[in-house]
Amino acid sequence: TSKRIPLVAGNWKMNFDHLEATYFIQQFAWKLRAIHFDHKRCEIALMPSFTSLRSVQVAIESDNLKIRYGAQAVSVTSQGAFTGDVSADMIAHLGCSYVIVGHSERRKYHPEDDANIVDQVRAVLAAGMQPILCVGESYEERRKGIELDFAVGQVRDVTCDLSDEEAAKLIVAYEPVWAIGTGMVATPQSAQDAAKAIRNDLSATFGTEVGETVRILYGGSVSSKNAVELIREPDVDGFLIGGAALKVDELTRICKLT
Ligand code: PEP
Repeated sequence: TSKRIPLVAGNWKMNFDHLEATYFIQQFAWKLRAIHFDHKRCEIALMPSFTSLRSVQVAIESDNLKIRYGAQAVSVTSQGAFTGDVSADMIAHLGCSYVIVGHSERRKYHPEDDANIVDQVRAVLAAGMQPILCVGESYEERRKGIELDFAVGQVRDVTCDLSDEEAAKLIVAYEPVWAIGTGMVATPQSAQDAAKAIRNDLSATFGTEVGETVRILYGGSVSSKNAVELIREPDVDGFLIGGAALKVDELTRICKLT
């Protein structure tokens, strides 16, 4: 059995303005209290848009909630003439614990390559937060049967220059691209195989202590219907959730089942 505390992280993507975000948190807190949710057993985090972070902070702090939160991406630079960007310190100063780095939608719609993702990971760590590094194969790589090598390679490319201490702070989200937002979920066995392969590689590079510390989440069409089977797998330490994190009842159910 593992010492790792599971994490359920909701990625709201470009949904909810700050008023809707505040309302969601109030409802969610009420539901969690109603089921006497034990925050020591399972950690919960929400990733709103930048524009909602301050409102989310106020909603959470004013009600003393145990829900954590973070951002969906970050600038690789600390300040200066980068119109439209948001620095890691700005995010950290809003009480954020996490930043999603390298989500497949960012890799697709923004110029985020491995070099940029390495720098985002470094910026997040330097600001005292934890990166949730997203990796995962497309349908094409799965068809070729190279999905494990691909995901492991993506983690390795981004983490190879990190120190052991830095690597220990990582959270990895294995998100097969074909499963994101499609309703097609990976089988528990294939989520486990990928998580195990990533963990083994981290252990080989940074030592077993780091490998056993890093939480590896599964992401891709997670719902209350498939969460139980997935979390049963020994190397799956929780979920990164898109669509299901926009529905209070569904998210509450998943938290309860994790
Ligand atoms: C995601 O975007 O990280 C994700 C897993 O989305 P969904 O749960 O909607 O597939």
